[in-house]
Amino acid sequence: MNRGLIYHLRMAPPRTQSLVLTFEDARRVVEDHASQLSPGGSETLELLPSAGRILAEPVAADRDIPPFPRSTRDGYAVRSADLEKLPAKLTVMGEIKAGPLQVPSSLRRGEAFSIMTGAPVPQVADAVVMVEYTSLQGESVRVTKGIAPGENIVAQGAEARRGSLLLDRGLRLNESAIALAASVGKSRLQVFVRPRVAVLTTGDEIVEVDAEIGDTQIRNSNSYSLAVQIQRAGGEPVLMPIAPDEPRRLRELMEQGLQSDLLIMTGGVSMGRYDLVEQVLAELQAEFFFTGAKIQPGRPVVFGRVPYGPTFDAHKYFFGLPGNPVSTMVTFELFARPMIEALAGMSPLPLAFLHARLKSEIRVKTGLKRFLPAILSGEYEEAQVELVPWQGSGDIAARSRSNCYIVIPPDRERIPAGDWVAVMLR
Ligand code: AMP
Ligand code: MG
Repeated sequence: MNRGLIYHLRMAPPRTQSLVLTFEDARRVVEDHASQLSPGGSETLELLPSAGRILAEPVAADRDIPPFPRSTRDGYAVRSADLEKLPAKLTVMGEIKAGPLQVPSSLRRGEAFSIMTGAPVPQVADAVVMVEYTSLQGESVRVTKGIAPGENIVAQGAEARRGSLLLDRGLRLNESAIALAASVGKSRLQVFVRPRVAVLTTGDEIVEVDAEIGDTQIRNSNSYSLAVQIQRAGGEPVLMPIAPDEPRRLRELMEQGLQSDLLIMTGGVSMGRYDLVEQVLAELQAEFFFTGAKIQPGRPVVFGRVPYGPTFDAHKYFFGLPGNPVSTMVTFELFARPMIEALAGMSPLPLAFLHARLKSEIRVKTGLKRFLPAILSGEYEEAQVELVPWQGSGDIAARSRSNCYIVIPPDRERIPAGDWVAVMLR
């Protein structure tokens, strides 16, 4: 299918005032707005399906943890005073394994109980001698090493007191949170509902994945990368039809998209004649917080909000992400993710980078903070990173060969091999 060339001339759209921030300033603006957001309702899920979701209720200890003084070793529960003179010989009164029906209540001078890791230590014993320092001789055990009171025992309630807070609202439930919830008997958890995030891709040249395609057309891939990223951030993507570079239909679709909790658009935010996103947003009375960030890829990224909702001060937030596929992915991670996490009820996390040694020299122009696709390799403490050769921010194939981004500050022109560089995973 070839729709031919379009010759009709349109007036250049009135541009909104340009507001290009440094990366750090733009990120701070997003974080400030994210901190004002609150999640929607909550739902109760079984334990496992709640993994990855955001906890909406505090979870407290239903009893002391551990619920009894717990032995951390296989060995002998003793009175430490009995081991002042070495070697010491103690009478073995019996064995305590994990989960006994009854914990022995008496232990006299010169006596010991054989005990297993995880088993309750009798109240009268004050230490556990590791089996390695003992030898069993008939009914007695010979101990060759002294011990301080409390050694190899975790006191009752040392990890948490009954009623104390273990997991707070706003936490993303990972394996340890799920395990902790299980350990206090929570078989169901209340989690926040996922915010709905509309994805609106724009461009006359963009066609759906399974459509017949003309030589100069481009398949829509951004909606799919965004959908994956939205899900990973805790949102529910709502994929909309592709918007043409035509203001009326674009506006119609934007208005539909604004019914969701957040609207993310891609394409149409550069300086071209048919980049209409900002113009149409301006028609919707948008307030722009930035219309660009000093980064590469992703410079034309737009963030703002439009009045929307039942009260005069209600509004909906939007992002206009650049259409080049790698720019779309990077700007989502840097700016859209914290908004989705906040709408999902998650407590804010700082954006943190790892560091690795640069494998081969980098030369770039100064002025922009760069997030360039790279490969992290090497093992253990020898992590190394190097740029992936690429054709620029449209090169989705290079991005998929990479496994991270190297973050280059705007004032570095040359970074020699061997230097430590910041790395953003994903
Ligand atoms: P734009 O930001 O609209 O100027 O688009 C920049 C580049 O990204 C152009 O080469 C577009 O064809 C491409 N592009 C825009 N939207 C998409 C999309 N949804 N999927 C893949 N490529 C896109
Ligand atoms: Mg376009």
